[in-house]
Parts: sequence; structure tokens; C-alpha cells
Amino acid sequence: MLLPKFEFYEPTSIQEAIDLKKKYRGKAKLMAGGTDLLVHLKKKLVTADHLISLAKIKELSQVQQAGDTLKIGTCVTMSQLSKSAVIQEKFGAIKTASDNLGTHLIRNRATLGGNVCNASPAGEALPSLIVYQAQVRLQGPEGKRKIPVESFFKGPGKTDIHEGEILVGFQLPLPEKNYGAHYLQLGKRKSSEINVVNVAAFVEINPADQTVKTARIALGSVAATPIRSFHAEDVLTNKAPGEAVFYEAGEAARHKDCQPIDDFRGTAAYRRAMIGVLTKRTLETACKLAMAQ
Ligand SMILES: Cc1cc2nc3c(=O)[nH]c(=O)nc-3n(C[C@H](O)[C@H](O)[C@H](O)COP(=O)(O)OP(=O)(O)OC[C@H]3O[C@@H](n4cnc5c(N)ncnc54)[C@H](O)[C@@H]3O)c2cc1C
Repeated sequence: MLLPKFEFYEPTSIQEAIDLKKKYRGKAKLMAGGTDLLVHLKKKLVTADHLISLAKIKELSQVQQAGDTLKIGTCVTMSQLSKSAVIQEKFGAIKTASDNLGTHLIRNRATLGGNVCNASPAGEALPSLIVYQAQVRLQGPEGKRKIPVESFFKGPGKTDIHEGEILVGFQLPLPEKNYGAHYLQLGKRKSSEINVVNVAAFVEINPADQTVKTARIALGSVAATPIRSFHAEDVLTNKAPGEAVFYEAGEAARHKDCQPIDDFRGTAAYRRAMIGVLTKRTLETACKLAMAQ
């Protein structure tokens, strides 16, 4: 299968990229690593007369800590995330998600922004970004805006990005003390496979009485977008962590929060069962990490 013909642009500033996108509007596509886009072009799922690569815009490929905030540029690759000291130390669930995506070759090209803009309900990094309360930073002809990543997804392949806008990066609050987070995924085989289900959890423990102060749980591949599991979070809040509570939270996620479908990767019933198991397991590890701090 050959790629169709297109004009290729490599702007070196965000403004230049915005101007090109404005000039060619619907006939142009933005490209980060190209691991989704080029496949979609080959399969004729999308068309583009003009491809605007973001790879030469240096500021989009940086991970920067500023005070109590972490900024991740949209073109930061999964390999870069895996190796980043601050990601390893403070954002373990993002590190695990980055390690899990595809193969080494894919991880060297696949970007965080591309994973988010592709908006697959099974997208590897999406549940972790949600539980860390990441904000999406957008820039376009009308200026800049920021929205929670949780409200960015509108359906499979659909996002809240406006015509002409570029996702420039992410902003995450640095977690403080007594917290732990974890990410787990289940695929039909170990690597390079779209997830059957994936779950991220973040918990903060109240050091005074060792109960759960805050819990955020995000589920992937069980609805049209990644979703929060609010019922499971309610089960945990103000309770002492333990086997019975983790199980109850898993059951809440399984029966009350997810709306899976049957497809060739798994039945809805299997997905529900696995959401229960993965929710319980992510919580066990997240709470263990939080209590060890
Ligand atoms: C063999 C293989 C294995 C894979 N395994 C996995 C996996 O395990 N888990 C997983 O989640 N995914 C997987 N993928 C899918 C893909 O690698 C990821 O979704 C990746 O993160 C996409 O990033 P990218 O930089 O390549 O995006 P691109 O392909 O460059 O872009 C993806 C989409 O986002 C748009 N876009 C990109 N950047 C921006 C921006 N800054 N602003 C606005 N729009 C933008 C593009 O126009 C395009 O529509 C796999 C793909 C392949 C080919």
C-alpha cells in the first residue's frame, strides 16, 4: 500500500505552523510522529494534500518543570517520557503507559500529543493523563486556551480541538506527598496490540488516619472515550485501603461505570470482568506506593 502524494512542510515555530494550517484549512493535516497518521493515509481513512510536520519546532519536544507544574510538549515521544527523570520519579503511571505503547521503533516516534489527538478509547496514555489532572494546551488563530484532558475527548477519533488549532502541550500539577499512582493494560498479546482494557489510578492517603483522601480512577476501552470511574472513587474515599475495599471498587467500576461493547478483541462481558480485576490491581499498587512515602 503506497502513500498518496502530498506537499510536506517543516515549520520551525508554532506561529508558522498555525499560519500554514490556516492557509490550507481542511486540506492540511498536522503530523507529529506519523505513526497513526501515515497508516490512516495509506489506508485512505483520511486524505491530505498538505502535511505539516511539527517535529522541527524545538519547544514542542521539551519536558520542563516550573515550580509546582510540569509542562510536556506535544511532540515529546514515548521513549523520551520513559527516560525522563521527573516522569520516573513523580508520574509513574505515565512512565508505565509510555513503556507499554507499541514497540521500541514505534515508541521512538510516537508522541504524547499524537496519542491524545488520535483519541482512541483504548489510547495508552489517556487514563494516566486523566488521573494526574493534565490540562491540554491549545494554540490557534484565536489565541491560546487550556482545558482538562478529561473533557477533551468527544468520541472515537473526536476531540474538542477547533479548526486551525494545534495542541501544543500538557500542563500537570506536580503531585505532593502521600500519593501513589499506577497503570495497567490488557491486550491480546504482550506488545504492539490495541488494548482490550486499560486502567489508571491515583490515590492520596491522609497521613493522620491512613484513609484515602483522594482517589481518581480512569478506564479505557470501555466507552466511546476514556472515562472516570466515579462510583469506584466514591467506594474508596475516606476508607482505609484494603483487599475488601479494592474489590468493592473494582465491582463498582465493572457494574456502574463502564459501558463496553463486543468486538473482535473481546466481548463486553469479558471487558467488564477485566475492568474489575485491573481496577482492583491498580488500586492495590497505587495505595501501596502512597503508604510507603
Ligand atoms: C505498530 C503500531 C503499534 C501501536 N501500538 C500502540 C499502542 O500500544 N497503544 C496506543 O495507544 N497506540 C499505539 N499505536 C498508535 C500510535 O503509535 C499512537 O497513538 C501514537 O502516540 C501517535 O502519535 P504520533 O506522534 O505518531 O501521532 P501522528 O500519527 O503524527 O498523529 C495522530 C493524529 O493526531 C493529529 N495530531 C498530531 N499532533 C497534533 C497536534 N500537536 N495538534 C493537533 N493535532 C495533532 C494528527 O493530525 C493525526 O490525526 C501504534 C501504532 C502502530 C503503527
